[in-house]
Amino acid sequence: LFSDLRPLGPEGPFSLETQFIADSDSCKVNLIIGAYRNNQGQAWQPPSLVEAKKRIHVESCLHEYLPLHGSAEFLESSKLLVLGPEITNQAYDRIASIQTISGTGANSLIAKFLDNHTHPANIWLPDPTWVNHADIWKENAPGVDLRWYPYYDESSRSLSFSAMIQTLQRDTQENDAILLHACAHNPTGLDPTKEQWEEIALVCKEKKLFVIFDSAYQGFASGDLDHDAWAIRHFFTHPGLEFAICQSFSKNMSLYGERLGALHIVVSRKSSSPPTASVHGHLAEIQRACVSMAPLFGSRVANEIFKSEDLHLMWQADLLLMSNRIKTMRKAVYDELVRLQTPGNWDHVVHQTGMFSYTGLTEEQVGRLRKEHHVYMLPSGRASICGLTCANFKYTAQAIHSVITD
Ligand code: PLP
Repeated sequence: LFSDLRPLGPEGPFSLETQFIADSDSCKVNLIIGAYRNNQGQAWQPPSLVEAKKRIHVESCLHEYLPLHGSAEFLESSKLLVLGPEITNQAYDRIASIQTISGTGANSLIAKFLDNHTHPANIWLPDPTWVNHADIWKENAPGVDLRWYPYYDESSRSLSFSAMIQTLQRDTQENDAILLHACAHNPTGLDPTKEQWEEIALVCKEKKLFVIFDSAYQGFASGDLDHDAWAIRHFFTHPGLEFAICQSFSKNMSLYGERLGALHIVVSRKSSSPPTASVHGHLAEIQRACVSMAPLFGSRVANEIFKSEDLHLMWQADLLLMSNRIKTMRKAVYDELVRLQTPGNWDHVVHQTGMFSYTGLTEEQVGRLRKEHHVYMLPSGRASICGLTCANFKYTAQAIHSVITD
């Protein structure tokens, strides 16, 4: 039955991670994985998370099923977190929310939901984007064609804004879906300015596109939860624009393996009455067939943080600490490249935001970094800055210098 099946090993980051683990060199540097590491290069538990778990009394808590939509308490708080109190109040009857298997689950659910119910001809993804986006849409929305809008200008290492707007204006059709990264674009680390977001919102409205915000880094990007939600909240100010938010708590709460996320859909006033009920019902129906319901433990931890003012403040301090450490490492490796007089301009390393730097290194240079210096990053040149520490940034800069100059 399975003899014709092509053997398939782990791909992309997962295959590199396997190679990294097998590498016995004591100087090896892991810039692959999109997960926070502390200055010792170790996985880290934010103090807010440690304290939240203590307050849960894990030994005695039950492990019942969540309702199909997930934890109502968590959904209220996560909605408030991303949209803020003003919008949440104004739109209390226009937001359909469901707890999902983290950001991946939210992206998959919206793809399936649109394919089943609103039938967009195309999903427009930024070129480049998080590697999983294309697979998620292929797997979950076979009726929707994948299209790409320009995002990154390689020559200037900046946002390809005019080309992006031109493509959206010229090539999109009414009812198409478009995916936008809410902040800390993965992999480029480049986000539109506020003025550019305003222009993007106008095009989406004029072309009647359904917008999907992928929000995987709120608070983690800048250290400020409200700042990182600005674009999403701005879209709400355009009456008639309907949009979805795929929210992940992997990075900002360090709940990677607990798979905590949510999908929120903001529906327009013109929709059926009560506006959200049918959307809500269909989301639950799809999720039931795929996974029944999302897991419980992560939402329990998050609820603990959301409900206590002291833990919420502690969490904000954790976010600031993580984002500041990343900024410090960006500056450290940048300064070292400048000191070494490594050919090229490295300003982008400090200007990009979030976890990743799109270094501009070629696939061949990335290959040499791995083989000759045991420094691992994605073939696209995407490096996870979280893997840099005070102990390895000089070594890493020197390795980059060598593959460029030798
Ligand atoms: N969206 C983007 C842009 C990401 O970078 C990631 C993770 O790297 C995700 C979604 C989903 O992550 P998770 O499923 O762990 O929430």
